[in-house]
Amino acid sequence: MSALEIRQFPCLSDNYGYLVHDPVSGETAAIDTPDPVRILEEAKAAGWTITQIWNTHHHYDHAGGNEALKEATGAKITAPGYEAARIPAIDREIADGDTVQLGEHSAKVFFTPGHTSGHVCYIFQESNVAFVGDTLFALGCGRLFEGTPGQMWNSLSRLKALPDETKIYCAHEYTQANAAFALSVDPDNLDLQAYSKMVDAERARGEPTIPTTIGAEKSANPFLRPDDPGIRAHLGLPDADDVEVFAEIRHRKDVF
Ligand code: ZN
Ligand code: FE
Repeated sequence: MSALEIRQFPCLSDNYGYLVHDPVSGETAAIDTPDPVRILEEAKAAGWTITQIWNTHHHYDHAGGNEALKEATGAKITAPGYEAARIPAIDREIADGDTVQLGEHSAKVFFTPGHTSGHVCYIFQESNVAFVGDTLFALGCGRLFEGTPGQMWNSLSRLKALPDETKIYCAHEYTQANAAFALSVDPDNLDLQAYSKMVDAERARGEPTIPTTIGAEKSANPFLRPDDPGIRAHLGLPDADDVEVFAEIRHRKDVF
């Protein structure tokens, strides 16, 4: 089995578009459809033909280009059945635990509600690659538009349990703003301080901060660290449970 090839490119104001390619079968999947024109340009530049579209959730910057991209390519659309009424042009509805094939490579579907009620992530376990949409961000997590803190914490816990070397491809470049917030709740974390400096340098050079890894996020992302004694002390919640601490961190980010 030859390695997956991934092409990452900015779309709209702060989204990333992703194309995933299996060189053996020639299959190429667009992960979400933030900007169909940009996605087609990138596929052409790579010499790839888009055969599939995999949606993470129904928001416009993720599924808004479904019809245009399908019309241009004939690609088959895979999307969470939980949001089928809100995602256009679906061919296959998937649910938690399903497997989606890209040639010989298979991705596991994780149901990760919280940002939306039916959000899913696609995990290529053999390649240690995860497309997480708006669930986990570098140094952050998605806003809770349709879910509870308990649901989101459960979703993030599943991602946190992936191997440390897992590469995380999230849908937005929010890292620098996330770092400023993270330092406000976990100021003494040396890993976070170093991560934040690295992000500033990358952005100053105009480079993406994505992908990140589960290992890097576990040591620095406050949304994966509600069990951390330092964060708990800082929030004045030494004895709360993880969901309560997570909810407080999320609330503070919403008003930061
Ligand atoms: Zn979203
Ligand atoms: Fe989004």
